[in-house]
Amino acid sequence: MRHRIAVVGSGPAGLTFARVLHRHGHPVTVLERDPAPDARPPGGTLDLHEGLGQLALDKAGLRAEFEVLSRPEGQAMRILDTDGTVLRDWQPRPDDRANPEIDRGQLRDLLLGPLDIQWGQGVTEVVPGARDGVRVHFADGRQETFDLVVGADGAWSRVRPAVSSVTPHYTGVTSVETSLDDVDIRHPDLARLIGDGSVAVYGVNRSLVAQRNSGGHVKVYTKFRAPLEWHTNLDLADVEAVRSSLLALFDGWAAPVLDLLRHGTAFVHRPFYVLPVSHTWTHVPGVTLLGDAAHLMPPLGVGANLAMLEGAELAESIATGPEDLDEAVRAFEVQMWARAGRWAKITTAGLERLVSPDPAEALALFDQVQPS
Ligand SMILES: Cc1cc2nc3c(=O)[nH]c(=O)nc-3n(C[C@H](O)[C@H](O)[C@H](O)COP(=O)(O)OP(=O)(O)OC[C@H]3O[C@@H](n4cnc5c(N)ncnc54)[C@H](O)[C@@H]3O)c2cc1C
Repeated sequence: MRHRIAVVGSGPAGLTFARVLHRHGHPVTVLERDPAPDARPPGGTLDLHEGLGQLALDKAGLRAEFEVLSRPEGQAMRILDTDGTVLRDWQPRPDDRANPEIDRGQLRDLLLGPLDIQWGQGVTEVVPGARDGVRVHFADGRQETFDLVVGADGAWSRVRPAVSSVTPHYTGVTSVETSLDDVDIRHPDLARLIGDGSVAVYGVNRSLVAQRNSGGHVKVYTKFRAPLEWHTNLDLADVEAVRSSLLALFDGWAAPVLDLLRHGTAFVHRPFYVLPVSHTWTHVPGVTLLGDAAHLMPPLGVGANLAMLEGAELAESIATGPEDLDEAVRAFEVQMWARAGRWAKITTAGLERLVSPDPAEALALFDQVQPS
């Protein structure tokens, strides 16, 4: 029997889930709040890890396309001291495919492929327990019923309350990001500083990372410890005011590093929220969660990877696992909770070390992860 399955959200989790189900010939309804795929900027670059995001792409049958689009050279990582001294300059081997980078927009388009997304469908609430299935309520007042509703709707999930009363809390670390275009032509010195991949600088309770995307686009991420209301006296929409505030915060750092902020075009504020480590819930028939909706953790290069693998695994469990849909979902949840719990511990400890009173902690973490 074909189950009526809906996934809420077309991020990495929802799209991978839908794409793998589609590969197995199983219909799925994808409900996305955004009115169109390009309704907002797609975000920066993602490194897809061999045993996580890349494995998910294998399950979706998209490995070959990924190899064409991805940038293995983007794994390169340079670490500078705040005075500009090069502390580490790590280059991947030519055949290193452990964590190649891909632009988020390219990954989204790759996953979208033949999928038919229902754009502009903001879900407000999901109510399990009805006789005819799980009821989905939409922002425009409509309702629809499904056998399974998968919440892949990110940090502020509207599906999560159907299974858990837990909400995200602030980590104490916030981020302001900016970007530069055509860096090779317009800012060749900065292009050399960044190299093929990323350059990172760690100071006391703050850091700055610049990361190359495709097409000469660069994203610059500042991170710092601050109370949530640090910007009370700052208009975040005022580009020059935010720039001045950041230049003051990073005062004394090497001039080329500060140039990354001086040339940034716009600034986006992104406080880091997380769900508690090892967030689980009592299984609710007909509803489950994937990705950030299930286990929002500090952004240390693994969230999208986990989201994709979970999407692929749940789809496989439904398509090829036990006949009983609920049993397939339960089996998946147990596996997801165990793996996500491990990564939540790692990333929580990692954030403490990367934005730390002792910048040597960040360097030690890099040496642990990427021994020369
Ligand atoms: C600055 C930064 C850098 C990062 N870098 C990396 C990295 O290098 N590698 C990595 O693996 N991870 C990275 N992450 C983490 C990664 O972005 C997330 O973990 C990942 O996007 C989670 O995917 P998701 O599909 O669960 O949720 P999301 O990507 O948040 O997608 C959720 C989707 O649901 C839609 N939606 C939301 N609410 C509703 C609703 N009510 N109704 C319908 N649709 C809705 C949204 O519009 C969106 O399309 C980074 C995060 C940040 C902030």
